[in-house]
Amino acid sequence: MTSYIILLGPPASGKGTQAGNLRDHLNLAHVASGDLFRYNLKNETALGLKAKAYMDRGELVPDDITIAMVLDRLSREDCAEGALLDGFPRTLPQAEALDVALANKGVQINRVLNIHVPEDALIERVTGRRLCRTCGEPYHIKFKPPQKEGICDLDGGELYQRDDDTEATMRNRLKVYWDQTSPLIEYYRAKGVLVDIDGAQSIDHVTEDLKAAVADL
Ligand code: AMP
Ligand code: ZN
Repeated sequence: MTSYIILLGPPASGKGTQAGNLRDHLNLAHVASGDLFRYNLKNETALGLKAKAYMDRGELVPDDITIAMVLDRLSREDCAEGALLDGFPRTLPQAEALDVALANKGVQINRVLNIHVPEDALIERVTGRRLCRTCGEPYHIKFKPPQKEGICDLDGGELYQRDDDTEATMRNRLKVYWDQTSPLIEYYRAKGVLVDIDGAQSIDHVTEDLKAAVADL
């Protein structure tokens, strides 16, 4: 059986960190739309340049661009048995396009893990977040510090702060989440695939709850 799993939750709710913990456990490809955009930006592709202005403002990149990029990624060989989707879908049209694309392959979304974190905690998480320039691994100066300050544990890459990880941009990203993404909670709940996860616990506890929520897949 295939496993297509979505990590849903507001920005800085821990989707990227938890995807890193879950992907090896589940042996699934990790498909993170934000990472795909940042990769395109770093390589100055046409797609990256188009996405940049939206990302800098904390707005969503238009659906047509985003859907094409993610569906292309999902069509690759390593996603044939399933994928762990992180940061996509973020709008109802994206969710519908994903349903159609999976149905065409004879598969479907098996589970949606909805991570809750109180809003004030999200602001603290985002301002302390750091990413590896080489592999994109997320860290946090307080909650998930690297062994050596400023250096990625996995590959020795330099850690940096995302341009959009400021308090002002975060306020806008949270508004965008409530307006455009949170309707997906009811969309997937109605399909019977949603599981609510308390994302305010320690990183390890959240990982345990997530593993339990997909143990039957
Ligand atoms: P993230 O790393 O998931 O926080 O994404 C960073 C930025 O990339 C977002 O603030 C958006 O500008 C853009 N982005 C990522 N995923 C999507 C998506 N599914 N739809 C539209 N824009 C996205
Ligand atoms: Zn790294």
